[in-house]
Amino acid sequence: MDYRSSLLKRPVSSSSVRYSFLPAYPTSDNRRNILHLLFSNVQISQLSRQAVERRLEHGYHQSTFLTPINDHERLIFSLSRRWNISKEILEYNFQRVMSIINMMIKHRIHHFSTQYNQENLLEDHYSMALEFFLQIDIDTFYLKTCSYRGAIPESNVLQSIFCLTEPEGRYAMEKCNQISCCLCHPSYKTPTDHHHHHHRTIVQFGPNQQHLFINGYRSILNCPATCTTRNIIYVLTCPCHQVDYIGETSLSLDNRLAYHRTHGNRIVQEFLLGPIITSRIQQELKSFEVLVKDSMKLYQHSTHCSIAIQWFLDENPEYWPFIPIQNQNDQNNEALSEVSKSIVESNQFQYANDVPSPPPNYHFTHSQKIEIDRFFHEKKYLNSPNQKLDLYEAAIVAILPTNASAPLRRFIEALLITHTETKLNTEGHLDKLLSSNTTEHNLPQSSSSSSSSSSSSSSEWCQNLSRPSNMTFTS
Ligand SMILES: [Zn+2]
Ligand SMILES: [Zn+2]
Repeated sequence: MDYRSSLLKRPVSSSSVRYSFLPAYPTSDNRRNILHLLFSNVQISQLSRQAVERRLEHGYHQSTFLTPINDHERLIFSLSRRWNISKEILEYNFQRVMSIINMMIKHRIHHFSTQYNQENLLEDHYSMALEFFLQIDIDTFYLKTCSYRGAIPESNVLQSIFCLTEPEGRYAMEKCNQISCCLCHPSYKTPTDHHHHHHRTIVQFGPNQQHLFINGYRSILNCPATCTTRNIIYVLTCPCHQVDYIGETSLSLDNRLAYHRTHGNRIVQEFLLGPIITSRIQQELKSFEVLVKDSMKLYQHSTHCSIAIQWFLDENPEYWPFIPIQNQNDQNNEALSEVSKSIVESNQFQYANDVPSPPPNYHFTHSQKIEIDRFFHEKKYLNSPNQKLDLYEAAIVAILPTNASAPLRRFIEALLITHTETKLNTEGHLDKLLSSNTTEHNLPQSSSSSSSSSSSSSSEWCQNLSRPSNMTFTS
């Protein structure tokens, strides 16, 4: 083992598919499955003796009397000097980048019926892709060579793509202070007591920005950033801190989150009201885009997560009647009498009978049902929930050059999704792409996707919610 990460919760073994998406030395023997990783973001004191020797002998730029004979060689020669890394490493990893991009293009054309020119990188974007690839390391993303958008490349004696010392945050995330900005000025209610603290800032402003993903992977911000910085890769973390999601956008974080908020709040609302009532109060049929959003793990998770539901209810207390109440042990008889009562009163309610049935051992009280009907008679759903409520914490992970294209963003996004193992991304896991290519016929299709979200019990979303005293519905 050349290096053992102290960050990652599960160490990556050399047989892992993730190795195929990490930068490596050309001395690697692909056939015998021996890959000598580059470890560009690992400080020298953390490496094994062999890895240190490899870096010192083969890692750095070496001057030569040869002159480049074509554009590609000229590019490799100049990058080798600029990043102080050997030409052979650059050439070898350039090929790796190309093959990953080609694999992604093939998959996307097949899966989304897009055209080749929508998916391919512009010629001069390959060196940006390579710059990122070399510095998205086994447990840390640290683009120390970044020189655009106000970044100052690290200056040490032996300036290089290889870390000599422990990488650390260098750039700040600053408030933009515009009145219309939802990150600087969240427009939801001020917290009233201690456990609502989390509501205030979903973005951590301040210097030395870095982010620790759920699986332990670390990213270090590569440029100065504000809420208005565009062309970014960002991460959303559920307040339960069990799951996360990586996205890419040409927009700013604030504008992009507006989109996530709209769908997130709508989907929690529809989950609580249930499909029958949702279609009854909806003005128009759902578009294809909306249906796609409905099935995204990112939004589905919020409806299965009691901490996200608590955030939603703290902001929108008019939805408390839709939260079923747990049966007391001595209440089983009462629950039974509820059933017989409900047969009698089934004509009494216009709406309450059509909400989703409560999970086992939960029920709706009579006074809840009255409140549910009142909710619809008063058309409270017309101006609630608050569409500006955030259901996820957010951070910028990487900032791309201003002219970066969507395919370049998707390539960097996919590398980060793969190494951070985000549970809420459906697309982007390159390791799954590779393993499904090779063993397509003997893998059960749904093994990975279904286990992650549905392993919890069906009542978990309404467990341990803390109700305000005026929302305790007695039967
Ligand atoms: Zn702002
Ligand atoms: Zn959660």
